[in-house]
Amino acid sequence: MGKIFTPTAENWPATADAVVIGGGIVGVATAFWLSRAGLDTVLLEMRSDLSSLTSAQSIESFRAQFTEPAMSELAQESIRIHENFAEIIGIPDYDIALRHTGYLFVTDDPGKVDSLKAAVAKHHTLGVTDSEFLNAAEIHARFPYISERAVAATFRQRDGQFSSHAVTQGFAKGSTARFLLNTRVTGIRQDAQGVAAVETPHGAIATRLVVNAAGPFAGVVGRMVGLDLPLQPMRRQKVYIAPKPQIPQDAPLVIDIGSDAYWRPETGGAFIAWVDPDDRVREPSEHLPTDWDFPATVLDKLIPLTPFWETVCDTLKRSDVMLSAGQYVYTPDDQPLIGPLPDVPGFYLNCGYWAGVMLGAAAGRRVADLATGVLAPQQNALRPTRYAEGITTTGDSFLRGHH
Ligand SMILES: Cc1cc2nc3c(=O)[nH]c(=O)nc-3n(C[C@H](O)[C@H](O)[C@H](O)COP(=O)(O)OP(=O)(O)OC[C@H]3O[C@@H](n4cnc5c(N)ncnc54)[C@H](O)[C@@H]3O)c2cc1C
Repeated sequence: MGKIFTPTAENWPATADAVVIGGGIVGVATAFWLSRAGLDTVLLEMRSDLSSLTSAQSIESFRAQFTEPAMSELAQESIRIHENFAEIIGIPDYDIALRHTGYLFVTDDPGKVDSLKAAVAKHHTLGVTDSEFLNAAEIHARFPYISERAVAATFRQRDGQFSSHAVTQGFAKGSTARFLLNTRVTGIRQDAQGVAAVETPHGAIATRLVVNAAGPFAGVVGRMVGLDLPLQPMRRQKVYIAPKPQIPQDAPLVIDIGSDAYWRPETGGAFIAWVDPDDRVREPSEHLPTDWDFPATVLDKLIPLTPFWETVCDTLKRSDVMLSAGQYVYTPDDQPLIGPLPDVPGFYLNCGYWAGVMLGAAAGRRVADLATGVLAPQQNALRPTRYAEGITTTGDSFLRGHH
C-alpha cells in the first residue's frame, strides 16, 4: 500500500531507486508502475495534495479518437488500464466511476466533412474500429438537441469519462511507493555518472533515476539539469454551469470542430469550455487568472450547434457559473515527451501534455518499461530525442487547440 504523507526528519528517505517529481495523475501513474517494476520509488509533490494542480482542472474525459499513431496507441492502452483498473491496482471493487458516455465531434461546415471521414478511416487503421462517421440525418436521429445546421460528425460510444481523482488515489494506494507532500524539488545534483540526487528544503534524496512529471513546471525542472525543454504552457479555462432542466444529461462530450468549443453534462449541469488558439504562452503558474467574459464567449460559440444553450442563458445567474483555469503544455508536435534524455543519464521526462488525464496511465507504464529495459528507447515513438533525430510529425487530432 503506497504511503502519502508530509515528511519529517524521522521518516525522510535518504535514498531511492527512483524519484518522480510531480504528483499529478501522470507522476502518480509513473510512480505506480516504477514501484510495480520493483524499484524503491519516492514521489515528491510541492503542494499539499496529489492531483491538485492541472489534474484537478480537467473535465475528466477520455477518448480513443486520435489520428496520430503514437497518441492513439497511448490512449488505447490507457483505456485498457482504466477499464480493468481495480484488478490492475489490486484493490477489489475499486471504483473510478468510468462511464462510456461517448465523444461527438461535430460540424456545420460542409468543407470539413471530408476531414471527419478521413479521421474515422484513420481511427480504424489504428485499431479503433468502433468510431463512426455520422451524416446529418444520423446526427439528428441520435442527438435531437444538435441543431439542424450540423452536417457531419464522428462518434465513439466507448469514449467517456472517469474520476481522475479516483484514478490518482488508486494508483497511489495500489503502489508500494512513498508520496511526499509539501516537498518542493529545488535542485538536481549530477556527477560523472549522471543524476545523483534530488534536493528539497527538507534534505536531499540520493538516486540514479529521476522522472520529471512536473506538468506545467516541467520546463523549470528541466533547467535544474541545464536543459531547455521545448514546452509551452498555455492557459485553458473551463466553466461549470449549475443544473438546468434544458441540459440533456444523456449527451456525450460534444465538440464543435469549427470553433473548438465543447460541453458535456455533469451532475445535472454541464462543463463548458473552449480551447482558445490565441491564448498566449505563459509562465507555469499555480495561480492563473480567469476572464469573466469567458463563459459568455463559450456560450456564444455553443449556441449555433446546440441551440438549447440560448434558453439556458435566459435564466442564467452569476451564481450558476463557476470559472477556473489550468494549463495545457504543448510540444513542437503536440505530443508528449516520454523517456530518457541521453545528455543527462538517469533523467527521464513524462511531460508535455494537453490530454494527460486520459494518457497518463499508459505513459507511466512506458517510463517504467524504458527504465527497466523492457522497452528499448527506439521502440518508443514519443522519445524526447525525436526532434533531434529529425522526426517532424505534427499533431492533427481535433480539439488539441493548437495550430
Ligand atoms: C480546462 C482543462 C480541461 C482538461 N480536460 C482534460 C480532459 O478531459 N481529459 C484529459 O485527458 N486531459 C484534460 N486536460 C489536461 C490534463 O488536465 C493535463 O494534461 C494533466 O492533468 C497533466 O497532468 P500532470 O500530472 O502532467 O500535471 P499536473 O496535474 O499539473 O501535476 C504536476 C505536479 O507537479 C508538481 N510540481 C511542479 N513542480 C514541482 C517541484 N519543483 N517539486 C515538486 N512538485 C512539483 C505540481 O505541484 C503538480 O501537482 C484538461 C486541462 C484543462 C486545463
